[in-house]
Amino acid sequence: MLYLSEQDARALVGHENAFGAVREVFASIARGEARNFPVVREDLGHAGAVYGIKSGFDRLGKILGLKSGGYWPGNEERGLTNHQSTITLFDADTGQPLAAVAANWLTAVRTAAASALSIDLLARQDTEVLGIVGAGFQSRFQLEAAVRRRKFREIVGWNFHADMLPNLERTAADLGLPFRAVTPQELCASADVIITITSAASAHLEAGWIRPGTHIACMGTDTRGKQELDPEILALGSVFTDEVEQSISIGEAQHAFAAGRLRRDAICQIGRVIVGERLGRASDDEVTVFDGTGVALQDLAVAKIALEAAAAQELGKSLTA
Ligand code: NAD
Repeated sequence: MLYLSEQDARALVGHENAFGAVREVFASIARGEARNFPVVREDLGHAGAVYGIKSGFDRLGKILGLKSGGYWPGNEERGLTNHQSTITLFDADTGQPLAAVAANWLTAVRTAAASALSIDLLARQDTEVLGIVGAGFQSRFQLEAAVRRRKFREIVGWNFHADMLPNLERTAADLGLPFRAVTPQELCASADVIITITSAASAHLEAGWIRPGTHIACMGTDTRGKQELDPEILALGSVFTDEVEQSISIGEAQHAFAAGRLRRDAICQIGRVIVGERLGRASDDEVTVFDGTGVALQDLAVAKIALEAAAAQELGKSLTA
């Protein structure tokens, strides 16, 4: 059994190979070759933490495993990231453990890869302005991955906690793009693509503000009770997701679904677009929404490429006696 640290994961997996792995596994889900198992997600009643286990199996790629971890809101004060998780991979033939992989970096790149994949498949080709709501740990990864998929001339951003806006400004500068801090309404008026990546529990973007042709990658809502968008945005737009079951239970679609404004069968698993079973964007006026809830198979797919690359580069620590 091999242990890969955060440092190893960083050295082995980047935006480009994560993008390829996530694309492939979303297609496997659509073809019925891979499936995510029901998610365990519990309020610990300790340290304000939410803890969960996500697991899945890709029969074709023989990827079996789980990610356990969650969100500890007090971590930042301790110099740690709020998200903490570890992926365990198993041999699909025997059930024996293969690897434990520190997964904070991997979670960020696989989440950014899903969002970027939605931009790749669903955003208009003539996008110019990239909007982002959220300025926490994930925001840098989201912006870095997004600019690899479309050409943008500017980034506009809003964050509930204004003191975090310099994070976005720094990332934009590193990407060589100008940054403008705006109100949520101004953001909707100027952005062609909007990424939302907050831990909010109520909507910050209203349906009436969204321009025709906008693509929204809604990435922050991964738990019951979280919310980033007015449910009417999902009711009126075309909704895509990583996993329909998660979308209506813990994803952004939970609200429109519960209100009877969005049917389960109106939500498209994004892999169906990759395999050519469904059309992506139907017209330049359509509003598309990707409800990225975060699935186990994303984690397992990036952990697998880390493991393969580790073997080639002789990285990691063997835990076998
Ligand atoms: P973080 O703690 O570093 O940042 C939190 C962000 O949410 C900040 O921008 C903060 O200002 C904002 N926020 C907090 N409370 C808010 C409120 N009441 N209203 C509006 N905004 C508020 O967290 P992070 O690591 O950047 O993660 C952001 C979100 O993304 C979390 O909800 C996390 O669970 C989620 N996430 C989703 C996936 C996925 O696969 N979909 C993966 C990783 C993280």
